[in-house]
Amino acid sequence: MGKYVYDFIEGNKDLKDLLGGKGANLAEMTRMGLPVPPGFTITTEACQEYLHTRSMPAGLLAEVEHHLRQMQTRIGRTFGDPKDPLLLSVRSGAKFSMPGMMETILDIGLNDAGVAGLAARSGGDERFAWDSYRRLIQMFGRTVFDVPGEDFDAALAHAGPDPGAEQLRELVDAYKKVFHTHTGREFPQAVHEQLFLAIGAVFRSWNSERAVLYRRQERIPPDLGTAVNVMAMVFGNRGDDSGTGVAFTRDPATGRRGAYGDYLRNAQGEDVVAGVRNTVGLDAIEPALRGELLSIMERLEQRYRDLCDIEFTIENGKLWMLQTRVGKRTPAAAFVIAAQLVDEGTITLDEALRRVTGEQLAQLMFPSFDESTAPPPLTTGVPASPGAAAGAIVFDSAAAAAAKGPVILVRRETNPDDLPGMIAAQGILTSRGGKTSHAAVVARGMGKTCVCGAEELRIESDKLTVGGRTLRAGDIISIDGTTGRVYAGTVPVRPSRVVRYFEGELTAHGDPLLSAIERLMIHADHRARLGVHANADTAGDAARARRFGATGVGLCRTEHMFLGDRRVLIERLILGDDDALATLLPLQRTDFEKLFAAMDGLPVTVRLIDPPLHEFLPPLEELTARVARATALGEDPGRDGVLLAAVRRIHEQNPMLGLRGVRLGLVVPGLFAMQVRAIAEAAAARVAAGGDPRPEIMVPLVGAVQELEIVRAEAESILASVPSAPPIRIGTMIEVPRAALTAAQIAGAAEFFSFGTNDLTQMTWGFSRDDVEGAFFGRYLGLGIFAVSPFETLDADGVGELVRIAVERGRATRPELTIGVCGEHGGDPASVRFFHDAGLDYVSCSPFRVPIARLEAGRAAV
Ligand code: PEP
Ligand code: MG
Repeated sequence: MGKYVYDFIEGNKDLKDLLGGKGANLAEMTRMGLPVPPGFTITTEACQEYLHTRSMPAGLLAEVEHHLRQMQTRIGRTFGDPKDPLLLSVRSGAKFSMPGMMETILDIGLNDAGVAGLAARSGGDERFAWDSYRRLIQMFGRTVFDVPGEDFDAALAHAGPDPGAEQLRELVDAYKKVFHTHTGREFPQAVHEQLFLAIGAVFRSWNSERAVLYRRQERIPPDLGTAVNVMAMVFGNRGDDSGTGVAFTRDPATGRRGAYGDYLRNAQGEDVVAGVRNTVGLDAIEPALRGELLSIMERLEQRYRDLCDIEFTIENGKLWMLQTRVGKRTPAAAFVIAAQLVDEGTITLDEALRRVTGEQLAQLMFPSFDESTAPPPLTTGVPASPGAAAGAIVFDSAAAAAAKGPVILVRRETNPDDLPGMIAAQGILTSRGGKTSHAAVVARGMGKTCVCGAEELRIESDKLTVGGRTLRAGDIISIDGTTGRVYAGTVPVRPSRVVRYFEGELTAHGDPLLSAIERLMIHADHRARLGVHANADTAGDAARARRFGATGVGLCRTEHMFLGDRRVLIERLILGDDDALATLLPLQRTDFEKLFAAMDGLPVTVRLIDPPLHEFLPPLEELTARVARATALGEDPGRDGVLLAAVRRIHEQNPMLGLRGVRLGLVVPGLFAMQVRAIAEAAAARVAAGGDPRPEIMVPLVGAVQELEIVRAEAESILASVPSAPPIRIGTMIEVPRAALTAAQIAGAAEFFSFGTNDLTQMTWGFSRDDVEGAFFGRYLGLGIFAVSPFETLDADGVGELVRIAVERGRATRPELTIGVCGEHGGDPASVRFFHDAGLDYVSCSPFRVPIARLEAGRAAV
């Protein structure tokens, strides 16, 4: 039999696995001597066992009783004592914060006999005592026995807006009837029974629908379980010298130094978090207490070496700390705070790098609204989670979840039941609550745009009114989570400041966010072992990628050079016109010259043409219809007739598995040769112009070394015929599983490998990369077959294993083999870490992802 219960004084902040975040941090604060109400934590292991066996672990309740007795001795009050009842809060608290997703029950230990005692010990405040009792029956009923909340709400509404002690006593009777109707039993008067039932209910809330959904969204493992914190109640609703609040040691939106918080006088904790009443700042707290609070917050920052958020209550002029943790923050605040903490000497640059993520940088690179062309805002609320979002108004979460296009979820306030709608919506707008309201906290966690507390909005079930205007469901609205502004209609967007900084249009000087980013990027580049190249097909893209910090082009998809006007040249080629290649040669040469000039001095990996040729011809249906029409009119279909015959001739059932990549080079005479010549001649021309071109030739879709050997022999003879060209390396993509498995042989003919993880994922899973996302991925994600699309984040177990095999076998043959990746995964933060660990030399990604990959490459190395 294990130990299932830890007194707060027994734990510490590093025991999150066992005690959950909340329990570990309560223990830490208790150790620091801060004013934490006495209590204990039931471990996550107890929860896991309960969920597994569906019964309380043996010995747990006895342990709980033991700790409760110790607590009673310390406080000098007794659980269930009718004259002066000790009341308890029972709160969930998992390893990872899941705000509002699981259950909390307050005021456990109150019963018919205890109400008078509680009132007597609260200065004769009967109203307070009855109000606590009715809150208990309601929370307990809902949480332990699933009594519908609406039935309690109906009784509460009946009691009128500001019920006195007598009405509250009647309300308690009404609540007890509701409880009896739904459960077939009386509300339990035995206080220990209340406690044990509450603990079981909190355990079960780990598997509530919304908690399961949240975990999936946040990728929190499903089997961790929650700890349960049992703590002596303190009351923020005992009059004007009481209150409750939430605070951050720095502003979680901007990172600005100095405490930031929301306070509600004469209120209980949930009132702040639910955002049902609008709060005031910390300045409203009486100075001596505020001083105590601020000094505690400073100590917490020093202890955690990071921004902390806290929940506190003031009971009759005495401050109590109810919770702390390292606080969530916006992406901008994450960078600013990390740099501040380095300046303050609290953390090192390496630690600062660990505290920001590529995802956060990606969010900062999103565009925002262009204020200069925006109409006057409808209203301004609290900027709770940055970004610019526009969409059709929906007033309820189900409609948001069912919507086809982009929507903005508009609510007075949100609660955990709104989670599916919040996930589906582009942005969230509420009329109540501050930066710590449910809407704000959850939106920030998801990186979703949110404006909350827009008090001027009158939100009803099917419309909103503001300043004499009415908007209805389906009307378009735009919200700016950085400024808090709300606009009717769609507002034009402008590029992010961070992008403009990377473009060289803005300097970081004097700007806290840009300076923080600059500093951390320099450090990331300094630490990174992985290089970052870009996928770029034009000189313009290559130049941008270079400004963004790319140190080469890892993939130039040459087929993109054959679109537009040049498409007919490929058509002519397919139709057997030998002159087509001669016409293409100078065009390609110019393309490459420009590209090599933009990347002068850095490697440019040019991939020979890859896609099936039918992509350059009109679709079969279109041609068939055109020819049929001409024939019906008695006209000559002309070129269409010839094209139709060609399309039929090259038609394939599975073109992505057909004549493409290296197979084209082996089947279509002269095509690869023309490209190789253009590369060599362009490089020679750049050398003649005083440049330093560094092209490489890459062969796609190779599955057997023989394919590569044939192409290589031809290419080498062409290169030899352009003696003024610099040395040009020849390598291959690894994107067919067989290539990965036979990498030892393939490395014999390749000077470099580049993983084409798009095709490698497609062929390893057997998922069509063009069709699959719409067809069944939603269902697969829902079933937990994978937590994220394998086309987005590399499947480390399957596709990743092929990568590891190819690296090992390739380098065994040729130790100096250069290895990179140029599939979409090259710019995905989680995948960058994988490629670092797998020992690759570089990742290559789209220009906009280059800064993200640089940051992640640095992070992977510290
Ligand atoms: C790949 O398959 O990962 C790749 C980079 O090539 P493409 O996306 O052009 O098929
Ligand atoms: Mg490919």
